[in-house]
Amino acid sequence: MKRDPLPPGSTIGILGGGQLGRMVALAAARLGFHCHVLCPDPASPAFEVAAAHTVAAYEDADALAALAAAVDVVTYEFENVPAETAHLLSAARPLFPDARALAITQDRVAEKAFLVEAGVAVAPFAAVDTAADLGAAIAVTGLPAILKTRRFGYDGKGQAKVATRDAAVAALDRLAAPCILEGLVPFALEVSAIVVRGQDGGTAVYEIGENRHENHILATTTIPAAVDPATLAAARALGCRIAHALGYVGVLGVEMFVVRGPDGAESLLVNELAPRVHNSGHWTEDGAITSQFENHVRAIAGWPLGSVESLGRAEMRNLIGDEAADWHAIVSDPAARLHLYGKAEARPGRKMGHVNRVWPRP
Ligand code: AMP
Repeated sequence: MKRDPLPPGSTIGILGGGQLGRMVALAAARLGFHCHVLCPDPASPAFEVAAAHTVAAYEDADALAALAAAVDVVTYEFENVPAETAHLLSAARPLFPDARALAITQDRVAEKAFLVEAGVAVAPFAAVDTAADLGAAIAVTGLPAILKTRRFGYDGKGQAKVATRDAAVAALDRLAAPCILEGLVPFALEVSAIVVRGQDGGTAVYEIGENRHENHILATTTIPAAVDPATLAAARALGCRIAHALGYVGVLGVEMFVVRGPDGAESLLVNELAPRVHNSGHWTEDGAITSQFENHVRAIAGWPLGSVESLGRAEMRNLIGDEAADWHAIVSDPAARLHLYGKAEARPGRKMGHVNRVWPRP
């Protein structure tokens, strides 16, 4: 459906009040939009930078109706928005990305089936509901493999590497949820495509970033990724193909594995989709002409997309737990751009902020 662009002064509803919602709200404010954030946590980082907020459960139908009445468009910063919530909101207001994108990306089996249908290569996989499914699943994936919960996994939570059938039975018991078994991919490195697709179907992909994890949490994203130029082009093309196949509106994160054959030839397997702005796209705040946050706002508002061109080489480093206590040393480097999320308590593993460094092209 062709919609008129939302004028500045309109209000954007955001489900979820974490750092991603906070950065979307900051970018929206810069373009003259108001944001209304709904989140059950009264200490949400996004609240303090939004024009309005509601503390309510995502299942609270009255709060959702009030939110819909107060905003012009709705988006979200996390993929676990309940299906019923998405339906309630999209009956009242445009919801971007839409309920189908949410349904597909919040279930690892549905997501992988969608990718295969779209002609995108993924690791061998099989759904595992009970231990009785494991024999057939292992026949598909081989061992070792990774058992993951179909829903609600993040930062390595809700998954286990298994080397034997017995280990898989024990892991399934421990995870206590419907699972997916995936073949273990012998990847050389991990990259991601940050894709933005507008309401007119126009699509742009940021420079492909290389992601390094520590303790299952993203530690750094580096631009450009150290892979063949043909692989960079292929990763961008995959990002576009997936966004088109989803009929997507907004920013989409596409996590991929780069596999190197014995001859050094590289190929790509898609691991996971994130229907939202993505941690591996935070470098774009300082390293690209238009940040992923601004482009997400532009897309959901029906505006033309901004240039995704990068300004040089870039690195984003997450500040996890205590690392944010080094803020003074970080800002003593004039080239470092510090972003803090305003979280009061630095628990281990908690994302407190990030630092971007950009080395402009000569
Ligand atoms: P995920 O929650 O699917 O993003 O997985 C978290 C991390 O586990 C990934 O970034 C990879 O480092 C690793 N991983 C996940 N799936 C696989 C796989 N099929 N093969 C090898 N490593 C994997």
